[in-house]
Amino acid sequence: MRGAVVSLDAAWRDVLSRRAYPAPVRSLLGEAMAAAALLSSTLKFDGRLVLQAQAEAPDAAVRLMVVECDARLGLRATAKLGDSAAGRDGGGLAELLGGGRLVITLDPPDGQVAYQGVVDLEGADLAQALQAYMAKSEQIDTRFVLAADDRRAVGCLVQRLPGHGAAAALWEDASLIARTMSPEELLGLAPHEAVRRLYHAYDLRIFAERAAAFRCRCSRERVADMLRMLGRAEVDSIVAERGAVSVDCDFCHQSYGFDAIDAARLFLVDAAAGPDTRH
Ligand SMILES: [Zn+2]
Repeated sequence: MRGAVVSLDAAWRDVLSRRAYPAPVRSLLGEAMAAAALLSSTLKFDGRLVLQAQAEAPDAAVRLMVVECDARLGLRATAKLGDSAAGRDGGGLAELLGGGRLVITLDPPDGQVAYQGVVDLEGADLAQALQAYMAKSEQIDTRFVLAADDRRAVGCLVQRLPGHGAAAALWEDASLIARTMSPEELLGLAPHEAVRRLYHAYDLRIFAERAAAFRCRCSRERVADMLRMLGRAEVDSIVAERGAVSVDCDFCHQSYGFDAIDAARLFLVDAAAGPDTRH
C-alpha cells in the first residue's frame, strides 16, 4: 500500500486572497486542491495534473471547478459560480454541483498526447467522487480524507498498489483506519503526526516532505497567443467597441491589457515572421 498526506497553508491562502468565494465553495475548492496534490504525488509523471468537476445543471451553484498541479507541486485553482451560489452557507459536492462529470487530465510536457479519464460525478462529497473515479477509471482501490478551512487545505490518501498490492484483508483494515479520521481531526494535526497516529501498528516507510506552492502559468505571451487564435477580426471588433482588449486570468486574476497599438502588433509579428518561424 502507499499513502500520502498533504497540508497546504500558504498555497491555499493565496487562492483565497485572490477571490472571495462563498463558504461552502471555499471548502470544496480547498478539498479539490488537496486532492490534486495527493493524486499528483502518486504519479511518476513530469507533467501537469488537471482535476475538473463540471456541473450538468445550468442552475448549479458551482458550474465548474478546476485545479491544476504540476510535477513540482505548483498549484492553482478556480471555480466558476452560478447565480445560486450567492449567500449559500452550506452544502457539499452533491448540493453545489448536482450531477455532472469528474475529469482528470494528465498533460505531459510539450508534444505528447494527454491522458484523460472521465466519470459521472457521484457520491455525497469529493472524497467519495474521487474514490469512484479511481475504482472505475484506474481500477485502483483508494481512500481519501479531505478537508479545508480558511487556513489550511488538507488531505490523506491510502491506495492499494496495483498488481502485487496488499492482500484483501490488509487493505480492508487500512481502508477502515483511514475512514476513522474525521476532516476536523486531520485539520488539527501535522501531516507526520496524522500518519503516525493512524498507522502506528504498520511497518511504515516515510518519505521526505515536498514543498507545495501557488503557481500560476499565465503570462502576457500566453494571452497574446490566445488572442491570435481568436483572430484579427474578432480582436479588432473588441478594440473598436471598447478601445482596448482586457483579459483577466481565471486563476490568479492578473489583468492583461492590449490597447489598439498592442492589438495591431499581435498580428504584425505573425505576418512579418512568416508562418514557419513559430515552430
Ligand atoms: Zn494567472
